Amino acid sequence: MKHGFLDRLIDRLGKIDPGSLQSHFLRLAREKGLLETIFHSMQEGLVISDRNGRIEFANRSAERLLGFTMPEARGHHVGRYLRDIGWDALLATDAGECPGATNREVEVSYPEHRFLSFYVMPLRPDGGGEAPSGAVLILRDVTRERQNEVQSIESERLRAVTLLAAGVAHEIGNPLNSLHIHLQLIRRSVNALSESQREGLSESVEIALREVERLDRIISEFLQAVRPVKPSLESAELGPLVSETLEFLRPELADRRVLVELEIPADLPTVRLDRGQIRQMLFNLIKNAMEAMTSGGVLRITAGATDRLVRLAIRDTGVGMTAEQLGRVFEPYYTTKREGSGLGMMIVQRIVRDHGGEIEIHSEPGGGTCVTIYLPREDRLVRLLPPAVDGAPREAT
Ligand code: ADP
Ligand code: MG
Repeated sequence: MKHGFLDRLIDRLGKIDPGSLQSHFLRLAREKGLLETIFHSMQEGLVISDRNGRIEFANRSAERLLGFTMPEARGHHVGRYLRDIGWDALLATDAGECPGATNREVEVSYPEHRFLSFYVMPLRPDGGGEAPSGAVLILRDVTRERQNEVQSIESERLRAVTLLAAGVAHEIGNPLNSLHIHLQLIRRSVNALSESQREGLSESVEIALREVERLDRIISEFLQAVRPVKPSLESAELGPLVSETLEFLRPELADRRVLVELEIPADLPTVRLDRGQIRQMLFNLIKNAMEAMTSGGVLRITAGATDRLVRLAIRDTGVGMTAEQLGRVFEPYYTTKREGSGLGMMIVQRIVRDHGGEIEIHSEPGGGTCVTIYLPREDRLVRLLPPAVDGAPREAT
């Protein structure tokens, strides 16, 4: 874009007489003022940082959401106001690990207990592939939505309907099972027929079997989604759970020519987790990664730890997501797949939240996707403080 007032001014700078320069500067100041007025009237918090994460600008909403004022915050690292985010990786200049924009939700306890959804986008000088010169951080207060979610989940009527639906879904499971068994018997008889008798029949049976399996999948995912069970936590290592899930999906991974790279340090700190649920989470994530790689690719799973969290990153070289898709991944029934249920990521989010963790997703169309799960380290759990009630800042953990 090269038609702004400033660009024109710069082009003509040499030819301007000092008299009109003053009026030009006044106009510039007005335009800057206008931009700031717009930023300050936004409901979303907006923070602009340099490449090292130091705050250069923040609008009023950001000041309110994060509990600082611009004069005191200028030049300080964003990590001072939003802890445990892993800013270095987010602002990394080489953009190698997880390129593109990031969408994540965090719980903050200062200045108030809130849930903030934040979106970080690296600022590149000419929109090109150069190292970012800084980052824009957009914050949205989703506390109300989260509370509504909780309230509506807890509301009695909804509970009754959900229970009923879950009951019906459960009841459908039995006849479905028996259908599956009988179809398999039919398949066996069909296979024993002569070639000419078999014509067309074989295909119909296969289709019926596939559809029954699909129904079964939809129902079990639905039951997972509507019947959140409290996780029964035990001390466990993530590594073996990841390996088991990969082993389980191995035939399909091979089918799609997906190369798996697994890098989990043997001394990864343990986490308190529900094995069944974390397996489910890994299954959903790896399945999505696999489905995004329609013509082969690399699935890379890495892990590490910060002083409070264990981090597990699942990266694919698949189709990636647009900003719109990225914003909707957790919506129930949101899917871009012909046979998708759109419940997988919602279940992942619920499981991660139930474990006191966080999810971060980086994605770019054509650039693959990187989903990072953060779970609290078992050895640091005792140091987690409850959210402050009186709005006082929480002690650093
Ligand atoms: P489903 O897989 O049944 O579509 P999910 O809730 O698992 O439902 O995912 C919702 C949508 O999010 C997908 O349809 C897809 O558009 C997008 N998505 C999730 N994971 C990935 C990924 N690794 N790469 C690209 N898109 C993804
Ligand atoms: Mg899925």
